[in-house]
Amino acid sequence: MGERKVALITGGTRGIGKEIAMELARNGFDIAANYRTKTDDMDEMQKQIETEGARCFFVQADVANFDSCKQMVETVEKEFGKIDVLVNNAGITKDGLIMRMKQEDFEAVIDVNLVGTFNVTKHAIPYMMKRHSGRIINISSVVGIAGNAGQTNYSASKAGIIGFTKSLAKEVASRNILVNAVAPGFIDTDMTKVLSDNVKEGIYAQIPLKRMGSSNEVAKVVKFLAGEDSTYITGQVLNVDGGMI
Ligand code: NDP
Repeated sequence: MGERKVALITGGTRGIGKEIAMELARNGFDIAANYRTKTDDMDEMQKQIETEGARCFFVQADVANFDSCKQMVETVEKEFGKIDVLVNNAGITKDGLIMRMKQEDFEAVIDVNLVGTFNVTKHAIPYMMKRHSGRIINISSVVGIAGNAGQTNYSASKAGIIGFTKSLAKEVASRNILVNAVAPGFIDTDMTKVLSDNVKEGIYAQIPLKRMGSSNEVAKVVKFLAGEDSTYITGQVLNVDGGMI
């Protein structure tokens, strides 16, 4: 087996991000998992990753903070000597109809989801440019494509990520850096656990496959975009949504 690759995953210790970390660890990657708040099962996660023969390194940073992202990228570069794949996954929601949405709720979601994606990418890209190689995978959402009442902030941030992805893909293609987005539909994580059964029933009605997706079903698509079977794909959005869009 060749040299292991290195993936940095933001928000990599919970939900979809954790599943991406596990899936990549099972497929030849060493893992740098970013977190904002420590969770109880990080020790267990480390053990599981090491069982796969991969290295696991946790790195604390708030993606909404530019300097914090600079430090994070430098720390990972020092630890592993490279970042082959960056997965911008960290994200939040602060839902509400516009009549009731506070300015700070709009700004907080843009700051984490969209500006956070810029902040980490901005610091990782010079290293990738120098190495003439890299993959950037941004986690958008179906809501960024189709919109959703009560999520003007979230949907603007996720649509922004798509524009960012397409533009960056054109900028850095000549350096052999591929940039793509994944747009999940409704995935069973803490983010969607808060929804009432009523709301969930309404959502299932819009999903041809009539169920929520699992984090692993998203992680497998990220693995594809991070791996050797997608070397001619850049600037794309892959929907993982059970047929919603
Ligand atoms: P979770 O709420 O389960 O996890 C979110 C992750 O993001 C956590 O690890 C969290 O870490 C991290 N995070 C949040 N804010 C920050 C920050 N400022 N700095 C660093 N890390 C941060 O959500 P999901 O796993 O469901 O979502 C992951 C991504 O997938 C998000 O971008 C989300 O928008 C997107 N998505 C999810 C869908 C779903 O149905 N679940 C559908 C479509 C897209 P911490 O707890 O430490 O803050």
